[in-house]
Amino acid sequence: MPVRARAYAKINLFLAVGPRRPDGYHELLSLMQSVGLHDTLDVTLARTEAPSIHFRCTHPDVPRDERNLVHRAVAAFREEFGVGDPVSVTLDKGIPVAAGLAGGSADAAAALLALSHLYDRPGDNGRLAELAGRLGADVPFCLVGGTARAEGTGERLTSLPAHPGVWLVVWKPPGGVSTAEVYARLDEARPVGPEWAGREAAEARLAAAVEALAAGDLPALGQALYNDLAQVTEHLRPEVREARERFLAAGAAGALMSGSGPAVFALAGSEAEAGELAAAVRGLPGELFLTRTVGRGVQLDLGVRRSQKETRASSPK
Ligand code: ATP
Repeated sequence: MPVRARAYAKINLFLAVGPRRPDGYHELLSLMQSVGLHDTLDVTLARTEAPSIHFRCTHPDVPRDERNLVHRAVAAFREEFGVGDPVSVTLDKGIPVAAGLAGGSADAAAALLALSHLYDRPGDNGRLAELAGRLGADVPFCLVGGTARAEGTGERLTSLPAHPGVWLVVWKPPGGVSTAEVYARLDEARPVGPEWAGREAAEARLAAAVEALAAGDLPALGQALYNDLAQVTEHLRPEVREARERFLAAGAAGALMSGSGPAVFALAGSEAEAGELAAAVRGLPGELFLTRTVGRGVQLDLGVRRSQKETRASSPK
């Protein structure tokens, strides 16, 4: 019996980047939020002769070999739990690739949870979180999802309570950006001492974002949005700045690039308002999504299989 998993994208409502650590990673302070835009994975175990991992994905920019985070998640799960049955995974990408929306990380988290369910090990959350941390900085968040404050390299998470929710327009121009390049350019442009002098100010702004989100106060949330990486990517890709400015000029309470970009999101008070804001960037080449914040990172669907089209709708309740 296959398990179908929805792997939700994440946005950063706040992202302050601190000093680069000796291991090459940066200290972060972030407010992460799952959104309804998602990939769909069908995961099955076969106990017969079959290839070790049968992985299908038709998206041209997604590697189908060991470089795929789904492959790495399956391998890590097998090693951790000492299992080895052939696994079949079909991945239907709804999240744009290399966008700053954590698509690969969401898929890895979904694969871990689907396997955990298939092997009837729902109690092993601590071990799954540890595995997730080894797979990538955003995978621990994707495993839990919802709204969380993230510290360290993104692995130290504090889940925050459910909130009234926000509508969003997400715009993604053609092509991705290299996360490593964006961080390297930020270090060149803005060296941060090992003490991270700006941390206190970042904490205050993040607290304001958390409060605004909890109160459903869109203008206050818009004021608190922040991303240290935006200045770098907006310099590399001027259309990213253009999109953000167009959203704001069209009346969005806030607009910001997510992660290292180039995806840009705008806050909206309703689905209708999100539709109006979307019109502001229609002239720019790229993809547009209307979506909402959601309270989890992965949703397992254990019922009857539905058509791919149905489950790809990007605006869940
Ligand atoms: P990051 O900031 O970690 O680069 P992102 O959210 O910007 O993440 P992803 O959509 O995760 O971007 O893709 C980054 C790269 O990871 C892609 O260029 C692709 O080669 C590779 N990749 C590996 N596994 C996946 C996957 N399951 N889905 C999408 N891309 C994947």
